[in-house]
Amino acid sequence: MAENKRDYYEVLGVEMGASAEEIKKAYRKSAMKYHPDRNPGDKEAEEKFKELGEAYEVLSDDEKRSRYDQFGHAGVDPNFGAGGGYGNPFGGGFGGFDFGDIFGEFFGGGRSRQSAQNAPRRGENVGARLELTFEEAAFGTEKEVSARRIENCSDCKGTGSADGKVETCSRCRGTGQVRITQSMMGMQVQSTTTCPQCSGRGKIIKNPCNTCKGKAKVYKTYKTKVTVPAGIDEGQSLRVRGEGCVGSNGGPNGDLMVEVYIKRHPIFQRDGMHVYCEVPITFTQAALGGEIEVPTLDGKVKFDLPEGTQTGKRFTLSGKGIPSVNNPRRRGDHQFDVVVETPTKLTKEQRELLQKLEDSLENKSSPKRKKFFDTLKDFFD
Ligand SMILES: [Zn+2]
Ligand SMILES: [Zn+2]
Repeated sequence: MAENKRDYYEVLGVEMGASAEEIKKAYRKSAMKYHPDRNPGDKEAEEKFKELGEAYEVLSDDEKRSRYDQFGHAGVDPNFGAGGGYGNPFGGGFGGFDFGDIFGEFFGGGRSRQSAQNAPRRGENVGARLELTFEEAAFGTEKEVSARRIENCSDCKGTGSADGKVETCSRCRGTGQVRITQSMMGMQVQSTTTCPQCSGRGKIIKNPCNTCKGKAKVYKTYKTKVTVPAGIDEGQSLRVRGEGCVGSNGGPNGDLMVEVYIKRHPIFQRDGMHVYCEVPITFTQAALGGEIEVPTLDGKVKFDLPEGTQTGKRFTLSGKGIPSVNNPRRRGDHQFDVVVETPTKLTKEQRELLQKLEDSLENKSSPKRKKFFDTLKDFFD
């Protein structure tokens, strides 16, 4: 069977020392000519097309080509079982086979996908969670966060090799991809696939590093300092460039994304740049007015409560809120509601004083109450 085969160089019409580029060109030219779509029902063209595919499969692969040069057809025909130097030429790489790719490649559609595993790739981003106090979020801080990422293995300096030796894969010449030819519906179709010898890495490591098992990379928990800007809010994320997983093949590192959580404050609530709280006052303070102390982010602030303040009345202290995350000199407001607390557990003396007060109060002192009962009177009359 093998004896009847034509010489592969002859099939492609190239010299024995032809370059890979020449072989590829010759193959494309002839394959287009004998393609079954162009020669429907032509048995001879179909045979020629198959023969071309077979020749190209061998001559476009460095390893097979050198075996062919040495041993002829016997060196590359799997039926001969010779040498055992290579196994199934499609071994492993066929999972990602897809028609679009094959035909795109075949007709020179320019869709040559460079998905080689050895192409530069950016490292993945990693996430961390950062819990801040209300004040830390308001005024900014520096914090250490802990995260987990992929780093270059330090034991082998990121080579994956125990002895530092890394060889370029002879089969794909370091590209990580090889061309294969397959018979499909009676046609020889060609495609590019992951190199089975190096699994697409383009490199061969004979003595892999023990720590990373030849992967050159390891998972590591690490700590890094994060500068938190004043005014950061719950749910916002800080991006720390280059602090994520290490890139591959010279690609850049990923980023560290720190998501911010803010602990509840016992008194303050936050609404964007504004801070809100309630301030309890006595009912005599509400009636008489006077100086009260209001807690703010800047500490206690003295505030002149007007005479006759009703419970629930809201006051605003401008510029005492949260700084803008974009411009720390701009600050929101501090708002507070006064809440009148009715006194309890009165002494006998206090009771008598209050009773005297009650007896003396006329309707003009509490106009709302007067109006309320006046309205009721209208109802029931
Ligand atoms: Zn390879
Ligand atoms: Zn290692």
